[in-house]
Parts: sequence; C-alpha cells; structure tokens
Amino acid sequence: MDTDRLLNFTGKLPKRLHGPLEKAMRKLPGVQKMMDAEYKALLADMEKDLRPYDDMIPPFSQMPDQGLPIEEIMGMMRQMQEKEDKRWRDGYASGAVYHGDPEHIAFMNRVYALHSQTNPLHADLWPSAVKYDAEIVAMTADMLHADEAERLHPGTKVCGSVTSGGTESILMAMKSYRDWARRRKGIKNPNIVIPITAHPAFDKAGEYFDIQVIRTPVGPDYRADMRAMQKAINKNTIALAGSAPTFPHGVIDPIPEMSALAHEQGVGFHTDACLGGFIVPWAEKLGYPVPVIDFRLPGVTTISVDTHKYGYTAKGTSVALYRHPGLRRYQYFSVTDWPGGLYASPTMTGSRPGGLMAVAWAVMVKLGREGYLDAARRILETGEQIREGIARIPGLYVLGDPLWIIAFGSNEVDIYRVLDALAHRGWSLSGLQFPAAIHIAVTLRHTQPGVPERFLADLADAVEEVRVQPPSSGGMAPIYGMAASIPFRGMVNDILQRYMDLLYKVPKSGRRRLR
Ligand SMILES: *Cc1c(COP(=O)(O)O)cnc(C)c1O
Repeated sequence: MDTDRLLNFTGKLPKRLHGPLEKAMRKLPGVQKMMDAEYKALLADMEKDLRPYDDMIPPFSQMPDQGLPIEEIMGMMRQMQEKEDKRWRDGYASGAVYHGDPEHIAFMNRVYALHSQTNPLHADLWPSAVKYDAEIVAMTADMLHADEAERLHPGTKVCGSVTSGGTESILMAMKSYRDWARRRKGIKNPNIVIPITAHPAFDKAGEYFDIQVIRTPVGPDYRADMRAMQKAINKNTIALAGSAPTFPHGVIDPIPEMSALAHEQGVGFHTDACLGGFIVPWAEKLGYPVPVIDFRLPGVTTISVDTHKYGYTAKGTSVALYRHPGLRRYQYFSVTDWPGGLYASPTMTGSRPGGLMAVAWAVMVKLGREGYLDAARRILETGEQIREGIARIPGLYVLGDPLWIIAFGSNEVDIYRVLDALAHRGWSLSGLQFPAAIHIAVTLRHTQPGVPERFLADLADAVEEVRVQPPSSGGMAPIYGMAASIPFRGMVNDILQRYMDLLYKVPKSGRRRLR
C-alpha cells in the first residue's frame, strides 16, 4: 500500500469521516500488521535514546541479593547526572529548570535533608508540615492580590491547597466544579468550555472525572475566541477556563472578558496560571501590558499556580486557589466509617511530601517579593531580546504577541528540521503543532551572560543549515511531520501508547551476587 497517497487522500476527506474510516481500514486484512511494522521501526530509534546508560551502568530488573555499597550506588548515579547536568545548567533547555543556580539548589537540598521524613497527613507528628502547606497557599494568594480582591468583593475569602503539580491543581478545581454543579444545580452530564490551547490536564480531568471537554478555537493572535466560547456554553456547562499564559504560545487569554462571561452565565472560571502565576503579578508591577488574571476579577473562581515552575522550587508542588472556602469544600475527601480510623485528605494523594512543601516554603521566604520581582524582570527582558532576535532571522516569524515564552514558525523551511538542527547543537526546545512551530520558555538559566546571544546564533545557523542541506533520517522531524499529516489520530495515539510502554521496558539483567 502506498502510505503517502493514502494519507494524501484521507487528508482531503471531511474530519467526521476519519474515525469511521480508520476503524474500517484497521479491519482490512494485513493493515494492522503493516501498521505494527511501521510503529516498530519508528520506536526502535527512540528506545536507544531512552536507555543510553545500559552499557555504562547495568540495568536492574531485579533487586540485588545483597544491597550494594553506598559508594557504588552514588558512583553510578553521579555518572548519569554528570551527563545530564550540563544541558539544563548552561541554559540549553526550554523551561524544565527555572532557577538552577548552584547556591539555590544547595539551599533547597539542605532544607529537604532536614524534612525528608515529614508528611502533613500526620498533623500530630509534623505540625511544621501543616504550617508550610497553609503558608505556601497564603503567600501565593497574597502575591495574586487576594487582599485587594477581598476588599473589592465581599464574600471573597481566598484559600487553597498545595498539590503535587499543575495537573493535580487543575484536576482538583475541575472536580470541585463537578461536585458543586451536581449538588447546587443538579447537573449530571457536566461539561467545561476551554480554548484548544488550554493544557491537556483539562482533558485528563475530563477523563478521570467524567466531564465533557468542549474545545473552542483561538483567534489569529492565538488567544481565546470569545464568541466561540459563548456559543459553546450550554445548560450543562459547569466552568470555563483560560490560560495566563498558554503553554504553546505564551500569550495570555482575555481573562477579564472570559471570566465576565462565566460570571454572567453563573458558571465557574478557572485561570490556569500554572506557568505565569509567579511572573504575571510582577510583570504588572513592572508595567508590562498584562491583563488582570486573578480574584480581583469577580468571575474568577479558581486559579492554578505552579510553585515548581517560576516559583523556583523543587519539582512536586503547585497551588490550587479558590475564591472562597465553600468551593474548596468540594475538593476535600473524608471517610467516617473506616476501621482504620477517621480519614480526611484535602487533595488527590493520601500521604503528601512534607519535604517538598518545606522546600517550597523556604524558597518563597528566601527569595521574597524582591527576589521574585527581580527574577521576573530578568526573564521578561531576556524574553524580549530573544523574541526580537528571532523576528530578525530571515525565514522565521513569531506567533502572536508573547512575553517570555516565544513560539516561532517558518514559511520557508521545515520548522521541525530546525528543531532537530538545534538539538544537534545541544538545544532542547518544544515542538508544537497546528500550526507547526517550536517554542522556548525563557527561564533564569537563559538570563546568564551570553546565553541569548548563543541561542540566536545557533538558531540562525540551524535555519541556514536546513535551507541548504537535504533532510536526513532520524530525529523528531519525521515524527512531528507524520503526526501532523496523519488524519487518523488513532494511529498517532497508538504511537504515544507504545511510547509509554517503552518508558517501562527494562532489559532482563539476571540477579547480581556481589558478596
Ligand atoms: C505546566 C502546565 C500545566 C501542568 O502542570 P504540571 O506541573 O506539568 O502538572 C498546566 N497548565 C499550564 C499552562 C502549564 O504550563
């Protein structure tokens, strides 16, 4: 079968036919086999990239009979870290490590060492963990102008919980809306209306909690299309959401208008400030043209803010904020009749990492408002420099009007090949689709002297290389190219599922007998 011709043909069919056609096609004799062979070839390359240490450090598919000496374990782990440190430390990554100064890391490690055993589930043993949990929420709410919101809007009493990350914060907010709407409005088949650019965590919430997710288009500026959202709302809508900013293009949705629409419709509104919660308030102070995104807007009822991104703490914490405790109640979980005792837990997890909360608390107290303001200034200035530099490179254009997360594409070269050419130069950027683009999320790593200049030089170089050299095999370009061209999303999904299987594939090692 000529795959290219087939794809070309199916690509021209109306979208609603793709699903049934794909289903029918898969039943044809030999098709599944052919697809399996294609997947296998595609994933073979990836497997090598995922397990680069198998020759250097033996795989463990079983525990050793006797425990290994600490020095040997540390030696193996150090070998791997030494190979992985350089790229993020020297600013070759998009996002990923948001602070990364050696003294900052050493401080976090000291705090963690002091608290590694703690768990706020045992409030009697560790009231310190309870204190950190509550005060991280309070400091985050305060940074997002909770005081002013409470003055402006009687009935507002901002509260929240520390969660394990942005995804859990969003899951918690969506679960709360579901249970609120079920109890207060009798809605049995809830839906949320969100722009196509909103994070997949909302789809995850939809899958986990049985909430339909209605995705609406964005305008030419990549921000939410208000009319489309308005039209999508129906009697089963429980909440709308917008991003400040969006992950793909780093633009801030029209949160004031969107939350006003939600308010008027009597539904919830979630500001996803996972990425921007620790930048936007400071950008506002610095005079950047950012809209209000927080509870000062009467329609905003929940906000997610990631301490583990631009809050500069260790991975594993985020904050879910609520306009008032009545809404947060729907997040809580409690059981009264378990033989194990009375059980109450505010978020999804049972035991929670008190050590990570201690680190987040300590980082916020160490940096202070001045520290965050200064960090935001440096990131926003570097973002501007990188954005202007990209716009000056022939063949590239910047998507929308971003501040510090800058997406760019090309009308002249294959941008995914540029992504690969950058990867060959050490860079790890994110690939985007619909439209094809890539992005860089500027962090404090990129504010180090010389880093923006090096990025722009490497990028200009990469574009020229792609212009003059024929495509080579391997890299991400063929995968993104294929993913974008395959109208059958089931096939793309198959690849993603197989990729996740691959993540857990450990070669059989045999048991080690040391002593
Ligand atoms: C990172 C991010 C999330 C999800 O956060 P995780 O910490 O990865 O779970 C949600 N929304 C936006 C805009 C993000 O950037």
